[in-house]
Amino acid sequence: MSKIESTLKSYILIFRWTLFIIILIRINRITYKKLYMETQTKITMLGTGNAAVTKCYNTCFTIHNGDNILLTDGGGGNGILVQLEKAGINICDIHDIFVTHAHTDHVLGIIWIIRTVAQRIQQGKYDGQLNIYSHDKAIYVIDWICRNTLPAKIVAQIGNRIKFNTLSEGDTFEAAGMKIQCFDICSTKEKQFGFKAVTSDNLSIVCLGDEPYNENNKEYVNNADWLMCEAFCLYEDKDIFKPYEKHHSTALDAGKQAEELGINNLLLYHTEDKTISCRKEKYTAEAKQNFSGNVFVPDDLEVILL
Ligand SMILES: [Zn+2]
Repeated sequence: MSKIESTLKSYILIFRWTLFIIILIRINRITYKKLYMETQTKITMLGTGNAAVTKCYNTCFTIHNGDNILLTDGGGGNGILVQLEKAGINICDIHDIFVTHAHTDHVLGIIWIIRTVAQRIQQGKYDGQLNIYSHDKAIYVIDWICRNTLPAKIVAQIGNRIKFNTLSEGDTFEAAGMKIQCFDICSTKEKQFGFKAVTSDNLSIVCLGDEPYNENNKEYVNNADWLMCEAFCLYEDKDIFKPYEKHHSTALDAGKQAEELGINNLLLYHTEDKTISCRKEKYTAEAKQNFSGNVFVPDDLEVILL
């Protein structure tokens, strides 16, 4: 073998080994990132809109606490199944659901979850129990719709592997590995509960449901790491959408309130969808006028790492 040939062979060998090491590093990085994303405490926004939207789904979301998932509300129909599928969340991994109130845009998706989970139980594909937590009014409505619209075989799972847990103001319970305390948001329209959840890594997440903060709930909301708060529209668009007539508020109001309450991260949802193409930028800018923390205005299916 000539000297040139031997040098060339050495170079090829070095090149092959370098390529192999680069590929190995890349695979490890992707696997690590995937594992990290899967176990990281996060919120997946399944829907971000108010009751009347057509360009996104109604407001509902999952909190992922390690491997455990808490679903909050279900949106207005079987679109919840589509959103879960798009988000890559297996319905068989959901064992805890919190329902804020019995309005159509929050409660009807829950009926579809119950229907699907009951089917999976029948097929032997769902392990354990599904717990649904809410106040008496919402539990009554869910139970009534299920019993009057679902097949007997599905209804038979209620009280069996699907359990309705009726909460009272201030009750604490454990769900999805989190300590949760519920509170009455003092709605004048419809009985509604919000909650404060503390994750395994000690982050506090407060959900105010779909109405503005009420002074009565200061003890739950004050200094929360994350505040999930409705913003029906921009303050600059208040004359178009008339939020105050509908017991809703604006991105500007939410920002002011969050600043007074010492919130670290403010997440805005339950919005109109007429301005959806610029929603993220405009709502963020308006909330930031009075708020020094971080503002999140997620799109549907956006994942927020906490
Ligand atoms: Zn609503």
